[in-house]
Amino acid sequence: MAVRTDFEVEPIKFRIIFAVSLISALAVIWSVYFVGTRYVQESAIRALKQQTQSETAILEDHLSRSLDVVTARLRLVAAYANVQSLNDERLRGDRLYELIQEDRVVRSLSLVDDNGRIVASSNSRNLGALMPQSELPDIAAKGNNSATISFGNVYEYRDIFEITQDTPANSSLRFWLASIPVNISGRIYHWIATINIGLFENLWQRIDEDPNTEIAVFDYQGKRIAAHHGDISKSTQGFGKELLENVSRTDLGFFESQINSNLFAAYRSSTAYPAILTVVGDKSRLIETLKDDHNQAKFYALAGSLIVLLLMAGLFRWYLTYEKSLAELANQIRATGAHLMISESSPDGKILWANPLYLQTTGYRLSEIKGKSHRIFNSGLYPRSFYKEMWSQISRGEIWSGTFRNRNKAGEFFWVKTTVIPFLDPWKRVSRYVALYTDITESIRTSEQVDHERSLRKELSKKNRELAINANTDTLTGVPNRRAFEQFRKTVIEQAHRKTQPISILMLDLDKFKDVNDTYGHVAGDQVLQEVTTRWLQQMRTSDILARIGGEEFAVLLPQTTVAQAELVAEKLRDVISCTPITLNLGDGKQLALVVTVSIGLASSDRVADDAGFDALMAQADDALYKAKRGGRNRVAVN
Ligand code: GH3
Ligand code: MG
Ligand code: MG
Repeated sequence: MAVRTDFEVEPIKFRIIFAVSLISALAVIWSVYFVGTRYVQESAIRALKQQTQSETAILEDHLSRSLDVVTARLRLVAAYANVQSLNDERLRGDRLYELIQEDRVVRSLSLVDDNGRIVASSNSRNLGALMPQSELPDIAAKGNNSATISFGNVYEYRDIFEITQDTPANSSLRFWLASIPVNISGRIYHWIATINIGLFENLWQRIDEDPNTEIAVFDYQGKRIAAHHGDISKSTQGFGKELLENVSRTDLGFFESQINSNLFAAYRSSTAYPAILTVVGDKSRLIETLKDDHNQAKFYALAGSLIVLLLMAGLFRWYLTYEKSLAELANQIRATGAHLMISESSPDGKILWANPLYLQTTGYRLSEIKGKSHRIFNSGLYPRSFYKEMWSQISRGEIWSGTFRNRNKAGEFFWVKTTVIPFLDPWKRVSRYVALYTDITESIRTSEQVDHERSLRKELSKKNRELAINANTDTLTGVPNRRAFEQFRKTVIEQAHRKTQPISILMLDLDKFKDVNDTYGHVAGDQVLQEVTTRWLQQMRTSDILARIGGEEFAVLLPQTTVAQAELVAEKLRDVISCTPITLNLGDGKQLALVVTVSIGLASSDRVADDAGFDALMAQADDALYKAKRGGRNRVAVN
């Protein structure tokens, strides 16, 4: 699936293809059904027609061979029959019986005189029986010793004598009559053979197993004289006549009935036997038997259609989900593409596609970068190993993230936070790389600005701090000035709020300092001021504060210091000045050791609660200093 938002989802086209496929599938199923069943039916009918013809041939073959035997028998006995032999023992019944006893076709042989009486017979019971003249085939015209066999009716009797006795029929023992006329001394006799019809029927049964055909034998009057089962030809009036019309054209043939379009028949007629052998077929029965097959085929076609419908419905459902997810994806990609730069490249790193945002940022047209390597954007900032590492990671199918500084078409730098996603095919091989980029040029510029401003601010605050220190520091001695002392005062008062503690203040004033200035000059005076502060600072705790509050006046703030402790401190500060002379440099290498003294006023309090309390303490210390001056200087006075 491409990352592009313009991929082709054409729902209408798909629906058309889908509908056409569905209709085609159903059309194929149903045409197979219709053409197939039609074909099956027609070939079955064709086969049935062929069957009737081949069955006719078999029938004729068998019948003609059997009847040849009968003919031979009749000719044989006809040859015996003459005037002498009428009373001859050759015509005795037992002799006749011998002639046919091995014969399965001929049941009895009888000689009928021109009065219709049986005068000789292989079956003695026939003797004397009177054959009705009408029952004898009308073959007189054929002349003496004719070789032609005539077939009479089918008698549902065992033998001729039963005709006259009218014994009830036994269907399994029916016979056919075949006769041959003989002229004995001018009188026409008939040799009559009763033919075992059951024998043929057994054969027909074997041949004609198909319920859609039947074997039927017609005489030349169009009368059906025998049939196997006989339902088909019996039910059709006029069929015999139609058969006769066809037979008059050929001896052997096939025709389709005009009076019943379902019927057809193969036939065979021969002068050797005066009957028409037919095998009649009935299409309607065949079609009836095929109905089950048709229904089965219809069932399969319906089932097939149902399966196709279900499959197609499933497919369509699946497609709808697919279509929905495609649309969803398209929206997501559109959203992503509006926010991110996207490019797609082949597994060998050639650009295949880039989104408008990408083109806008890089300044290229798609045609200018298509097929090219991303190297065209190189800013030359990163070493080869950087790219090599990235390629080894993504070619393994892993996602890589990092930041590039690239160069656009105009040669300007731009920064992109990049994620390269190897897209894998279903076999987990990299099919293409998709890279998403966030343009972070602005934020990088902003952060550079921020860094710059931060360093500016740092510089300023440093300057401010220096300025603040200068404002609070006495430039000559480097100790806090009166202004700083005022601020310490605030801190002291705040601390006193939190915790009750004693505090002491010393006020120091150099003695007769005016004289030093007057005698040795201002520069020497300054040296004295610097030296005394250095000495004092060496004697003090870090929590004690020394401040120069006037020309040669100093104050010392002693937090958490009782009056007794403060007195000791004050004495120490006085001593460190008076005990060791200060060396002055008077210029031109001249030096002078000068003894300087200081007067110190001390005031203490257990607790300073506010500004007023502090001011009162300061005033007390001032008083004490005044006292020390008056008391002769170079001393500590306590208030
Ligand atoms: P005493 O305090 O003992 O009564 O006598 P004094 O001479 O010290 O009296 P006063 O306090 O009046 O004199 C202060 C002198 O300190 C005046 C001035 O010349 C000198 N002085 C003040 N500030 C400075 C300074 O920054 N440098 C120098 N060299 N001298 C200063
Ligand atoms: Mg003074
Ligand atoms: Mg003084």
